Amino acid sequence: LFAKPWVFIRGVPSLKFLPPEGPPEIAFAGRSNVGKSSLINALVGAKGLARTSNTPGRTQELNYFVPGGYSGAEDDLPPMALVDMPGYGYAKAPKEQVDLWTKLVFDYMRGRSTLKRVYLLIDSRHGIKKNDEEVMDLLDKAAMSYQVVLTKTDKIKEAGVPRLIGETLNKLKRRPAAYPEVLATSSEKANGVDDLRIAIALAITV
Ligand code: GDP
Repeated sequence: LFAKPWVFIRGVPSLKFLPPEGPPEIAFAGRSNVGKSSLINALVGAKGLARTSNTPGRTQELNYFVPGGYSGAEDDLPPMALVDMPGYGYAKAPKEQVDLWTKLVFDYMRGRSTLKRVYLLIDSRHGIKKNDEEVMDLLDKAAMSYQVVLTKTDKIKEAGVPRLIGETLNKLKRRPAAYPEVLATSSEKANGVDDLRIAIALAITV
């Protein structure tokens, strides 16, 4: 799954541009700067893949990535797709932009039967913030399975990682759609990336 070079296939600014439902999808969400592009690049082993599509004009789009080498014809579809959702939580984002984000993401999550799980990225140094809580509210409301992934663990003390995982799990306890396991990753050190690959491979078979 992750051995082939991955490619960007399309940016989706509104739901009518979504590709037809096909292969299982896994989506990534997180505050801007959480390390989402870096983690996606580490995951698929392609430097610059997520970033290239992450130009300012594209920030409000769902960006689709698939393993390369498939024509996309009905009988030659990729085994899965990764969907990079626009980052949220810009301090200066106007309300209309936040509303647009919420609508795009919520409608996508609620209506997409091939979306298997959302990975919600949380910066190890900052923990779960208010806007992360709001996104979790949306996910719970959409009954969309999600799993929390801590990013940039190389930036905190090693001994602090298990404690942070415990604290984070505690905050997820009463959230019905949260997966009861938290992953810890560092794209910089490539830590936890294999665990995430395994989790994704399992999630798409459900
Ligand atoms: P995005 O906005 O969520 O896509 O975040 P980026 O992937 O662009 O990363 C934001 C910043 O955090 C960049 O300066 C990255 O180099 C840095 N960063 C991302 N992942 C890691 C990591 O695992 N460790 C460290 N130390 N820095 C990271």
